Amino acid sequence: MSLLRLFILCALLGSLSLCASAQTSPNPQATGPAAKIKTKVKSKAKAASYADSVKFAREHYVIDRDSAYIDPRVGLRKLMGGNRRFVENKSIRPRQDRAALLNVEKKQRPFAVIVGCSDSRVPNEILFDQGVGDLFIVRTAGQVMAEASYGSIEFATVALGTKLVVVMGHQSCGAVDAAVNRPEVPGHIVALINGIKHAAAVSKDQPGDRLDNAIRENVLEQVAELRDLDPILSKKFKNGEIMIVGAVYRLHDGHVEFLPETLKNLPAFRPAGTASAAEQAIKH
Ligand SMILES: [Zn+2]
Repeated sequence: MSLLRLFILCALLGSLSLCASAQTSPNPQATGPAAKIKTKVKSKAKAASYADSVKFAREHYVIDRDSAYIDPRVGLRKLMGGNRRFVENKSIRPRQDRAALLNVEKKQRPFAVIVGCSDSRVPNEILFDQGVGDLFIVRTAGQVMAEASYGSIEFATVALGTKLVVVMGHQSCGAVDAAVNRPEVPGHIVALINGIKHAAAVSKDQPGDRLDNAIRENVLEQVAELRDLDPILSKKFKNGEIMIVGAVYRLHDGHVEFLPETLKNLPAFRPAGTASAAEQAIKH
């Protein structure tokens, strides 16, 4: 802006002093000693609050929400961190306020699917210390799955982009107990028993507690079931686009044990749409 035009503008506004200060030198107060101290105090406070937040995140095992959604390995760490907070009585109850409700009103991006038991003693958001929009949960007694469960899990991985699937059994599961000890049950409960009886039979002669063994075996079989489930999950799992793992929740201390058998030899994580080096070599 030329000086003449600026002068005319100032005259029009009738605030020559304001324009002059804007045109020539900045407000002397902004560069004086008082301002310097103020800025120093402000930046010190900012640095302190950043350091506090880093310290808090480290001490409370907080993992970034967006990274957990993008990468299932980070999602797994986020669940482990949240469960550790819960066990240590340091829950932070994230995303459980009104703002969180409004934030997911139009769209959800859960970072994990939990395939768990309907048991009232296994409250997923509480024991993983997560909030609204974080977990997509499919629950039946003994986490026995059928068509509707499969469709729900596929919906989460295809439509919502969730990349981590956790099958989670729990200690003292009544459905598994029934499959182990009461094979004769009334009504549709038989469908649950039928879904678990193979795991109960396979684990029958294993050393240790019979029910605990059956609970574990049931989870292992359900993880295998999902990894082999055509046409969507099996492909996504083999391609490394999603991770499917198993876990068991302990009622007496709140700890979730991720089963090491299901964490081994996983296909390398590869976000959907990215081709492996071998595939790229074939293309060229
Ligand atoms: Zn149960």
